[in-house]
Amino acid sequence: MEHVTFPPLSRLAICGGTHGNEMSGVYMVREMQKQKEDLAGSVSIITVLSNPRSVEACKRYIDQDLNRCFTDALLSAPITDSSPFELRRAQELNNQLGPKGSEEAVDLLCDLHNTTSNMGMCLIFYSIDPVTLHIYKYIQSKMTTPVRAIQLSIPHSEAYSLESVGKRGFAVEVGPQPNSVVRADIFNMVKEAVDLTKEWLERFNSGVTFEGGEVEAYAPVKIVDYPRDPATNEITAAIHPQLQDSDFMLLQPGDPTFLSFSGETVKHEGEALYPFFVNECAYYEKKIAFHLGKKITLTFPSISVKKD
Ligand SMILES: [Zn+2]
Repeated sequence: MEHVTFPPLSRLAICGGTHGNEMSGVYMVREMQKQKEDLAGSVSIITVLSNPRSVEACKRYIDQDLNRCFTDALLSAPITDSSPFELRRAQELNNQLGPKGSEEAVDLLCDLHNTTSNMGMCLIFYSIDPVTLHIYKYIQSKMTTPVRAIQLSIPHSEAYSLESVGKRGFAVEVGPQPNSVVRADIFNMVKEAVDLTKEWLERFNSGVTFEGGEVEAYAPVKIVDYPRDPATNEITAAIHPQLQDSDFMLLQPGDPTFLSFSGETVKHEGEALYPFFVNECAYYEKKIAFHLGKKITLTFPSISVKKD
């Protein structure tokens, strides 16, 4: 089987508060800063509160969603007095942790998020990378709760999220946790994933060979909006109780998806697919009731550190 070597992965960025009301990442980063966790063996750790103004306000964002600001186009957009706060902040973060696509960028960027959906521990990748797939497999093998991944296939220049600033990266998306709330069970899952990521990097840098293999992930196929009143555009239904909290449970044609406020059930049509981000609070404004995806298998080569 194919074997690939990489230079040591010595710079890790842990970011939280990219969305200011997702509290696990906010408290995780603050705790790491308090404990001065800036070194784990061979790995230097940079901890960043990504959007301090939105954290202070305990809102997702001030002017616009920071986690949509990291495309090449927005990172090179001129800043004026009327620029949104998040655009300014995205360029600062790009200077600190990137620049995106450059040799100076951090080796791995983990961005910590929460969702109100019942997704458990989920990693989100914007590109296929052997290192992050190995870390995913490692976390999956060590945690006692299910660990899943969503694979987005977005060209690097168009990747809009913070983790795309690192040489490689992933978002840690954990739920269910309401916005502005911290739950110990969810916090502990985030902490475990961060600790396992550090542990994997140290083992990698120390010369361990990680065998190739395969992992399952979910690839988005489409998004589904809430049923709406055509005249007012107001939603007319909630997620059906049978679909609520059923993220990653295969949705078959004919399965209920919505229950209208007047009592009618809406059913899933078309092929069987896996729902996720079911009833995510922040997606009402994005007109997304849930995502549907298919299961895919990703293979990765065996890897080890490149020795001088
Ligand atoms: Zn988020």
